[in-house]
Amino acid sequence: MFYKSTRNSGVKVTSAEAITQGISSEGGLFVPESIPELSLEDIKALGGMSYADRAAFVFAKYLTDFTDAEIHYCTDNAYSTKNFETESIAEIAHLFSGTYMLELWHGPTCAFKDMALQILPYFLTTSAKKINLDKKIVILVATSGDTGKAALEGFKDVEGTSILVFYPEDGVSPMQKRQMKTQEGSNVGVCAIKGNFDDCQNGVKAIFTNEDVKAKLAENGKMFSSANSINWGRLVPQIVYYVSAYADLVKDGEIELGEKINIVVPTGNFGNILAAYYAKHMGIPVNKLICASNINNVLTDFINTGVYDRNRKFYATVSPSMDILISSNLERLLYLMTGCNDALIRSWFGQLASEGCYEVNDDVKAKLKEEFAAGFCDDNETKAAIRGVYNKYSYTCDTHTAVAVKVYNDYKETTGDTTKTVIASTASPYKFSAAVLEAVQNGKSDLDEYAMIDKLAELSKLPVPNALAELKNKPERFNDTIEKAQQKDYVLKKLGE
Ligand SMILES: *Cc1c(COP(=O)(O)O)cnc(C)c1O
Repeated sequence: MFYKSTRNSGVKVTSAEAITQGISSEGGLFVPESIPELSLEDIKALGGMSYADRAAFVFAKYLTDFTDAEIHYCTDNAYSTKNFETESIAEIAHLFSGTYMLELWHGPTCAFKDMALQILPYFLTTSAKKINLDKKIVILVATSGDTGKAALEGFKDVEGTSILVFYPEDGVSPMQKRQMKTQEGSNVGVCAIKGNFDDCQNGVKAIFTNEDVKAKLAENGKMFSSANSINWGRLVPQIVYYVSAYADLVKDGEIELGEKINIVVPTGNFGNILAAYYAKHMGIPVNKLICASNINNVLTDFINTGVYDRNRKFYATVSPSMDILISSNLERLLYLMTGCNDALIRSWFGQLASEGCYEVNDDVKAKLKEEFAAGFCDDNETKAAIRGVYNKYSYTCDTHTAVAVKVYNDYKETTGDTTKTVIASTASPYKFSAAVLEAVQNGKSDLDEYAMIDKLAELSKLPVPNALAELKNKPERFNDTIEKAQQKDYVLKKLGE
C-alpha cells in the first residue's frame, strides 16, 4: 500500500514516510491509494479478538511496510489496561433499544483523542527507524486544551521522543490547565503564552520553518514532527473503533452480521467522521453517517448545500473542541469523492485560502447527500439533550456527545429512519463538569471545579476517572509563562538541554 497526496496524485510514499512527514510537501494530505477490504467473515472473526488484535488486523491492511512484530509492538503498548480504564478499550453502552453509545473516553485524558494519540508515538518512532532516520523526534504542539494533554500523555517517556506544548495563558479551562501543569514524564515540557490560541499556533508554525532552529536541531541529532490531526497516523487508529464496535454488536447479538447501522459523530475537524467513512468503505455495513455540529455549523451547511463558507461569525460554545471553521480532514473526503482529482482539490482549497469559500460540483453534492446527513444545535439545546438523556435513561453524557444526541433525535423525527445506531461519545462528562452539572440540575453551580466533580459523581453514579480524581493531589511541575515574542528562544533553550 502506497500513499498519495490530495494535491498531487503523483506523490507516492510508504506509510512510514507519510507518518514521519505528517503533511505532503506541496501542502496536501496523505491518503492510501486504495481502501482495503474487510469481508463479513473477517468482521465476525474480529469479534473473538482483543481490541489490540483487532487494531493490528486493520493496521496490517494499511501499514503494509510494517512487519507483524512492529504492528504488535505498537498496538500492545498503546491499547492495554495500563493506559485505559476498561478492558474493552472502546466501550459500548446501551442507551435504549437499538441506540448505542460508543464510549471513546476511557483513556488517560478522558477524551477520544487518546484512541489515536496513545499509539501515534509508537507509529512515529517505528516509522523513523524503518526509514533509517536516526534522529530524536521533537514534537511541538499548540493547543486550546484537549489535544495538548492527550499528546503529552501519549509521548511521555516514549524513548527517542520529546514533546513541548504551548497553550494560551487565559484560553484553556482551569481543569485543562491543571492537567497540563501537573504532567508527568522525563521528556515533556509545557509553557503558557501571553496571547490567544492563534498566537501559540502561529509561533509553532514559524519555529517549524526557522533556519536557526533547524540548524540547532540538526546539531543535536533531532527532527521536528507533528502530532496534529492531519497526520495519517492519527486517522488510521480511529477507523479501528468503528470496525470494533460493529464486531461487538454482532458478537453480542444486537445486530445480524451484514445488517446496516447508522453512525452519528460530533464533528469539528472532520477527522473522526472521516474515519467512520473509511470503515464503511472497507466493508462495515453503514446506512447513514450523521454529522453533528454545534452552532459553528459550517459543515451542516456544506453537506446540505455543497457550499463551504467559512466567512461567518465564530462562536465559543460549551462544546469547545468543535469550535472550528476550517475542517482540515474534509480535504481527504473530497479527494475520494472526486475520484482522486487533485486539480479540483487544488482549485477548491485555493479558493478556501483566498476567499474563504468554495462550491463543489453536482456529482460531489449528490454523493454527500447519499452518504451523509447533517444537523446542528445551540448551547441551550445541547444542555437540554444532556438533561433529557439523564432524566429518561439515567445516562450522563458530555457536551460534545450531547450535540450528537440532539442531532440524531432530530434526524429520526424528520426521516422516520429506525436503523440501529451508534453514537460516538467523545469525552467523559467529568471533563466538562460545569456545563454538564448545570444541565443535569437545570441551574448553574457556584462550586469549585473539584466540588463540581464530586457533585456530578453523586448525581450520575458514574465513577470519576482516576486520571481526573488524582489531579487534585498532584504537584504542579510547569509554571513557565512567556511573551509570544520569546517563544523561539524558549524552544532553542529547551532543545539545547
Ligand atoms: C476533538 C474533539 C471532537 C471533534 O473531533 P474531530 O475529529 O475534530 O471532528 C469532538 N469531541 C471532542 C470531545 C473532541 O476532543
